[in-house]
Amino acid sequence: MQNTISVDLEDYFMVENFASTISFQDWENYSLRLEVSVPKLLNLFKSHQVKATFFVLGWVAEKLPKLIQQVSDQGHEIACHGYSHQRVDELGREAFKNEIGRATKLLEDLSGKPVLGYRAATYSINEKTPWIWDLLIENGYRYDSSYRPFLWKYWDGMPINEPRKINTSNGKSILEYPITVKKIGGLSFPFYGGGYFRLIPLNCIQKGIKQLNQEGKPANIYLHPWEVDPDQPRLKASSMARFRHYTNLNHTEEKLGTLLDTFSFSSIAEVLAV
Ligand SMILES: [Zn+2]
Repeated sequence: MQNTISVDLEDYFMVENFASTISFQDWENYSLRLEVSVPKLLNLFKSHQVKATFFVLGWVAEKLPKLIQQVSDQGHEIACHGYSHQRVDELGREAFKNEIGRATKLLEDLSGKPVLGYRAATYSINEKTPWIWDLLIENGYRYDSSYRPFLWKYWDGMPINEPRKINTSNGKSILEYPITVKKIGGLSFPFYGGGYFRLIPLNCIQKGIKQLNQEGKPANIYLHPWEVDPDQPRLKASSMARFRHYTNLNHTEEKLGTLLDTFSFSSIAEVLAV
């Protein structure tokens, strides 16, 4: 059973967790660490012979085109994480249309391949963004992986832990491939990615993936390059934001390596066969 592994390719100062103190306009003032962190992930994937999906931010692709080409040249899937990392439900339809067009062109020019997958910043596709499916399809997208069920919010009756076809009013369709969650007492928790992946003991994560695979379902695991970069600059923020961002950065690389040893992984486009 093949699971999917994806990397949201953004840097430490771009995250929603710090967005109240660092705006998009401030990004130019921070030094990028992706040329340190992304090669660590590439080496890890190479040593385990794993092809991953990289959801790349358009802004990053403009700043570091060679790095994105390097990711693509190593056989990984280049997918899109938008342009500015602003929430889709805050951008609105027109601004999103501009961003997705710009980011898609950048990534297709760099990789020389069509970009098939999209992931919204901060999983911000919801009931406020019903227009998104048509715009993704118009831009050539075959799947979206932005739905992250959390607590009681199951959004639109979407099934948990399996892909679903979304049909649009003009007779077209796109696949929604949600982030894997663990259900506990009627609530859902995204234990298999980001900060949760760093906090939850590895044996719990392994047990959850094993159970999913026994049900014939792939696990959709994700992380960020800055999560394998313990030497990144420490930013001023609330103690909760700092806890969420900096906990267990020293252990993520090793934890991911063990997971790649235990289970079979590939890119989302390959596993969904889009
Ligand atoms: Zn992101």
